[in-house]
Amino acid sequence: MSALKSALNEEWSTKSKPQENQSTESDREKAAAAGSSNPAASGVSRGQNPNGAEASDGEEAVSVRSGHLEDVVSRVSSAPKLLEIQDVVKTYGKFQALKGVSLDLREGEIISVLGPSGCGKSTLLQLVAGLAKPDGGQILLSGQRIASASGMVPPEKRGVNMVFQDYALWPHMSVFENIAYGLKQKKMNKSAIRAKVEEALGLLRLNGLEDRLPPQLSGGQQQRVAIARAIVTEPRLMLLDEPLSNLDMRLRIEMRTEMAVLFRRLGISVFHVTHDPEEAFAMADRLLIMREGAVDQFASPEECFRRPASREAASLLGAINRLEGQFAQAADGSLALVTDAGTVSGIYCGEGEAPRPGERGELRFRPEELVARAGDAAGRSSAARSGADGGHRLAADPGTLAFRVVHGTFEGTRWRSLAETASGGRAYLLHASPVNPGEVVEFALPRQAALLYRV
Ligand code: ADP
Repeated sequence: MSALKSALNEEWSTKSKPQENQSTESDREKAAAAGSSNPAASGVSRGQNPNGAEASDGEEAVSVRSGHLEDVVSRVSSAPKLLEIQDVVKTYGKFQALKGVSLDLREGEIISVLGPSGCGKSTLLQLVAGLAKPDGGQILLSGQRIASASGMVPPEKRGVNMVFQDYALWPHMSVFENIAYGLKQKKMNKSAIRAKVEEALGLLRLNGLEDRLPPQLSGGQQQRVAIARAIVTEPRLMLLDEPLSNLDMRLRIEMRTEMAVLFRRLGISVFHVTHDPEEAFAMADRLLIMREGAVDQFASPEECFRRPASREAASLLGAINRLEGQFAQAADGSLALVTDAGTVSGIYCGEGEAPRPGERGELRFRPEELVARAGDAAGRSSAARSGADGGHRLAADPGTLAFRVVHGTFEGTRWRSLAETASGGRAYLLHASPVNPGEVVEFALPRQAALLYRV
C-alpha cells in the first residue's frame, strides 16, 4: 500500500472511530512501510484485473454492462467471486457490532450496503479494508483469506482502495499530484504516470483543474478527485464509504449517476456503504440491507423494493405507512389484512410460512403506490363524503383504505397529506389535487404494493 493510503487510513480511523487496540495500529504502520517499498504489493497485475482502464477494455465493458437487469444478473452471476465475507463477527468490548455477516461480491459487481446509522456498515467496510480485525469468521479476496480472528493481510497488500466520506485529499498537493501519488508510490515512470493521470482527469471531467489545490475546488470536484485517485491505481476492489454525503442534493443526484456509469464502464468491482436508499438504488447490482449488526436482506434492488424482508427494511425502502390489523382470507383466497382503514389483500413478505387468519399483522405501504379513485384526483370517495364514517369507522369498499385528512401541504406537482384512520392510526398520502383538513379520502392499494408482516 502507498504511504498515502496508509496515511489516509490512519487519518480516517482516528477521525471517525475510537481507536482499535495498539497492536493493530502498529501492524498497520509496519504494513505501510512494507507496502511503500514493494510496488508489486498493491493491486494485482493487469492480466488478472478485469478493471483495465484502457479505452478498449472500457468500451467492451460498456457494451456488456449497459443491458437490462437480466444481462446484469447473468453477467454478474457467472463472474468469479472476488470478495467473500463468511460469518464475520466483530465485537467492541461486550457489544457485538457484527453478528455473523456473510455475503459474496463477484468480479465487476457493485454491492451497496444499506442500513440506518449504527447498524454496522462502516465496521464491515473497515474489516474489508483491513483497518480492523474480525473476532470471528473470515474474509476472502479472490479465494485467499485476508482476515480472520487469527490474523490478517495488511491493508496495503489487499489491492483495495477506499474513497472516504470527507475525500481525505492532500490539501497542499495539486489535483494532479493527489491523483498521481499512488502511482509514484508504485514507482511507475513519469510518462506512464502522466498518461494515467490524464486519463483519469478526462474520465472524471477534471481537465483544466490539474494545477489547483483541493481547497480551490468545489465539493463535487473534490469528490471526483478522490474517485480519480482511487481508480488510477486499478484496485481489485473499490470501497466507498458514504461517498456522497457531503454533497448537496443536486450534486448527489448527479454524482451517483456519474459514479454508476463510470464504474460500470470500467467494470470496477465496488463495495459501497450508504444510509441513502436512492444512492443505493442508483449504484447497486445487489443490495445488502443491514439491521443491528446482521444481514436483513441480500437481493437485487427490485426484489428488496418489491418484497422487503422485514418491517424495518420496508420503512427504509419507502414503505413508511403502517397499519395494524388481523389476517383474514380474502374472497379470492388471497391473504388479506383487516385494519380500521379497510381490508386489503397483500403479499406476505416476512419470514417463515404465511400467517393464518386470525393472527395479528401489519400492513406497510408507500404513499406513491396508493391509487386514487376514478373521478376524484384527491382521493375523495362519494360514500366517505356523504359522511358514512359516522364519527367512528370511515367508509371503505373492500380493497380500499379510508382516511381523514389532518394536514395537507403543497409539494409543487402534488399535495401531500398527513391523515388518520378512525382509531387514530396515521398515514402519509399523496393527492393530485388539493385536500383540506377534515376531508375523508379513499384509495385503492394494489395487492402487490400491500406488504404484510407478522407483528
Ligand atoms: P454505521 O456505519 O452503520 O453507522 P458503525 O459500523 O459505525 O455503524 O457502528 C456499528 C456499531 O458499533 C455502533 O453502535 C457503534 O457505536 C459501534 N462502534 C463502531 N466502532 C466502534 C469502536 N471502535 N468502539 C466501540 N464501538 C464502536
